[in-house]
Amino acid sequence: MKLIHKFKSLNYDKRENKQITHLILHYTALPSIEDSIKYLCESKNKVSCHYIISQNGKIYNLVNDKYRAWHAGHSEWLFEKDINSASIGIELDFSPNHNNNQFSKLLIFSLISLIKYLKKKYNIDKKNILGHSDIAPYRKIDPGKKFPWKKLYNLNLSYSPVKIKNSEIKKLKIWFKKNLIYTDKKKILIMLSIIGYDISKSINDKKFYRILLKNYRNHFIQKSHYKNSTIKLINFAEQHLCSLLLTKNKKLNN
Ligand SMILES: [Zn+2]
Repeated sequence: MKLIHKFKSLNYDKRENKQITHLILHYTALPSIEDSIKYLCESKNKVSCHYIISQNGKIYNLVNDKYRAWHAGHSEWLFEKDINSASIGIELDFSPNHNNNQFSKLLIFSLISLIKYLKKKYNIDKKNILGHSDIAPYRKIDPGKKFPWKKLYNLNLSYSPVKIKNSEIKKLKIWFKKNLIYTDKKKILIMLSIIGYDISKSINDKKFYRILLKNYRNHFIQKSHYKNSTIKLINFAEQHLCSLLLTKNKKLNN
């Protein structure tokens, strides 16, 4: 894997005594790799990333891994609230509104090599390979619905729930009942919160709730026939949660 070091960004600071435990995937939403590199390297913009990958598969290293690049903004996942200090940010030269509106084969091929390399180097759990839309669901939608998460799952580079026995799912349903959790919304929010999402804004705001579900679907479900079915979403989230809880610390998750 070849890294290009021709461009550097000074938009970084010190990691707050944190190990690198997460990889965060983004898209630039700018028309070209040249525009994106320029933007990420200009001091006044106060944003950056560690790596950016062009449509033709070139990987540019803009910030050294040891520094805290400014790519995540205000975001959180499970108990981690300073994602910039705990992660490496990878930008993809993609914009839904310009000519670079497809993830090219070369781009994905290079992304896979880079993730393999970083995952191994920092011993990153595949559950922590996430999109910006996972860690900041009310502000961000990247890497978006076209991003091929499935290709990453197939290579064991991203988390996808395993099939769980119905008897185990039943235990979760009983738990909901015992704790008087009857509405679909409550069930979904509790499950997404345990999975890792920040649900705070969704509790009392329908618009934010819809956005949260959309971002969850775009990453973990991705099947169009699931799009508007709450029941299917609950079924999927039940599998997802039980899969996480029941396979904890087993090799399956690594
Ligand atoms: Zn982003």
